[in-house]
Amino acid sequence: MAAPFVDTARITVRSGDGGNGVVSFHREKYVAAGGPDGGDGGRGGNVVVEVNDHMSTLMDFRYKRKYVAGNGSDGAGKRCTGKDGEDLVLRVPRGTIIRDAETGEIIKDMSDPEPFILCKGGRGGWGNKHFATPTRQVPRFAKAGLPGQSRDVVLELKLLADVGLVGFPNVGKSTLLSVVSRAQPKIANYHFTTLFPNLGVVFVEEGVSFVMADIPGIIEGAAEGAGLGHDFLRHIDRCRLLIHVVDVSGSEGRDPVEDFEAINEELKQYSPELATRKMIVAANKVDIMEDPALLEKLRKHVEEQGMELFEISAAAHQGTRELVKKAAQELSQLPPVVVYEPTYVERPPEVDTTGEVNIVEFDGTWVVEAPWLQRLIANVNFGDYESRNWFDQKLRQSGLFDKLEEMGIKDGDIVSMYDLEFEYQR
Ligand code: GDP
Ligand code: MG
Repeated sequence: MAAPFVDTARITVRSGDGGNGVVSFHREKYVAAGGPDGGDGGRGGNVVVEVNDHMSTLMDFRYKRKYVAGNGSDGAGKRCTGKDGEDLVLRVPRGTIIRDAETGEIIKDMSDPEPFILCKGGRGGWGNKHFATPTRQVPRFAKAGLPGQSRDVVLELKLLADVGLVGFPNVGKSTLLSVVSRAQPKIANYHFTTLFPNLGVVFVEEGVSFVMADIPGIIEGAAEGAGLGHDFLRHIDRCRLLIHVVDVSGSEGRDPVEDFEAINEELKQYSPELATRKMIVAANKVDIMEDPALLEKLRKHVEEQGMELFEISAAAHQGTRELVKKAAQELSQLPPVVVYEPTYVERPPEVDTTGEVNIVEFDGTWVVEAPWLQRLIANVNFGDYESRNWFDQKLRQSGLFDKLEEMGIKDGDIVSMYDLEFEYQR
């Protein structure tokens, strides 16, 4: 059996840690005391998400659940900065929506070609070369890099196509797509052949083209989750126009009107909004039509509902040109494809500030290090007032300032924590 089509995946991503800055002193033969030359740590790698138009499923994410970017290297002497960690690039099909796994909020709709940074790498720590001042000639400290971030996200594919082909299996959807575009979907004369939505660009005339998707597997009961259909219905969500393909040949002893209604019922069950989507009807396989009355019955039925019907033979390339032109004309009057705005709201993470703190004083500079402090700083957006406030509160609550007071810190001394430095003020 073919692997099922995968259009959701839950994964964990982690950006790289920043490398540490180092303490080092310039050494030369016959030179007594060189200056500080410890280099900075490299930045941790980002986790970046990018659209790849050759992909149409999230299958690649099915077996691999954890994605980790590279760590930055530590700095070295002679002012050598550590190498930045390697970015990890996740390639996803266009139309993939990234959600926060816990809340379901939308972080990003991957609909444009812009790469998106999902997780920023930790910043590298400063080497001691930064800490030489006229009064502090021998800086014996450097800073540790900041840790990367970890996130659990759900990827959900909602294809981006202007036109969605819907209809029973075997009615000729894939054939139609293949003759009006360059897509080469699988075509076979049995049901459930198509396990993947296929996308093709339909060229209408100079400057006019649109994307068409062959949505497989809509069958009766799909809206209740029977068969393949349910998973695929989400892909129609964003189609601006539906082309409903109906087999009117009568070759399988089916009634086109019943088929037409059954599919529409499925759409309605899935989403009442979808049932109101603009639809045109393609009555297919007229080349092998046995009973023209079936076609006429369908035409009457469809037109009574205010829709247009086009007689076509996808296999014989008959009537497809007119259908495509009509679709383009409709599209020119329909609103653009929906792109979802992010709904994700950044929340301060839970950081336990009760752990061990290591404080060292050099010459009026207080270097403070603690694992919880790393986590805290890595989560602050210093460009944002709220975020800075949260940081300030957390520091106060942690009792760090009381401890510094006890140790004898004075106003105007420097507090140095990872990539932060500030003047102490009571
Ligand atoms: P899908 O399941 O809706 O994608 O249907 P396919 O495109 O795979 O077609 C199913 C079968 O119908 C294939 O054997 C096609 O060759 C055949 N078919 C599709 N369109 C036509 C048509 O216009 N005329 C005839 N005679 N056969 C067709
Ligand atoms: Mg097909």
